[in-house]
Amino acid sequence: MPRETSKARFARLKKIITVLDRTYPEVHCELKHTDPLELLIATILSAQCTDKRVNIVTKELFKNYRSVADYANAPLAELEQAIKSTGFFRNKAKNIRACCRKLVERHGGKVPRTMEELTQLAGVGRKTANVVLGNAFGINVGVVVDTHVARLSHRLGLTKQTAPEKIERDLMSLVPQKQWALFSHWLIWHGRRRCSARKPDCQNCEVKKLCPQIGITKRFDHG
Ligand code: SF4
Repeated sequence: MPRETSKARFARLKKIITVLDRTYPEVHCELKHTDPLELLIATILSAQCTDKRVNIVTKELFKNYRSVADYANAPLAELEQAIKSTGFFRNKAKNIRACCRKLVERHGGKVPRTMEELTQLAGVGRKTANVVLGNAFGINVGVVVDTHVARLSHRLGLTKQTAPEKIERDLMSLVPQKQWALFSHWLIWHGRRRCSARKPDCQNCEVKKLCPQIGITKRFDHG
């Protein structure tokens, strides 16, 4: 791709956002939840696991574990069993229990609303904190960078970085802050529905005219 000025990239991104907004008007977090605690638990479980599988597991889990105290007091083996099929279940169970114990001890049993407090909880990194802040509280302090967001940001020529924190910094400087949470949903939805890792459907892609298709080989691109 010929070198693009920042002004041109901003203008292109604005058009990409308009198209994605029109394409996915119903966009939302695909992890099912009814409150901040459920979203926090679901997001911890989603590490190395699909949202679909997490939703199957949490359907039962949330019936049996209704409060922070339920997780904090749960026998570890029981919690492990309940989340087993999400993978890495020993670590996840340990983190969920430790996280909820801290919520009881330090936060009155509530999920805190700041990046600093959230990232001090067991099993909660910047990505999980961004998911909770953006979706449970409507607070945009960062952009969630998962595998889809990283891949699409690169293909769309929005970053050259590969480390999630650096991709996030690039996106934060391009995307209007009020759209940070939405923007990652748009890229995640587009990544799942159109721009998959192995077989991007460039030919039918809604943003193909705005996409330099960085790293896409001709094998994929029939457009
Ligand atoms: S044109 Fe291709 S690479 Fe670009 S977003 Fe669409 S599917 Fe992905």
